[in-house]
Amino acid sequence: MGHETPAIGCSRLGTLWCMRVIVDFDQCESNALCMAAAPEVFEVRDDDFLYVLQDEPSEELREKVEAAARSCPKTAITIED
Ligand code: SF4
Repeated sequence: MGHETPAIGCSRLGTLWCMRVIVDFDQCESNALCMAAAPEVFEVRDDDFLYVLQDEPSEELREKVEAAARSCPKTAITIED
């Protein structure tokens, strides 16, 4: 009780520091361009909604996530460090 478990795999002190992915779902039009760039993180399902599979992806996915953010015509993807 009283102790919070830190998010696994995300640490400013270790080598696994990761980013946070934020999607403005009000802007998103589910065109799946982000999924094409980073399918590990973004998935548009049959229900036509975008799902963020990892909102704190590891650093090794940064390039793909940044490409996904750039590819979004609605600029709905924000990456926070
Ligand atoms: S590229 Fe942008 S608009 Fe398209 S599904 Fe991804 S977040 Fe939504």
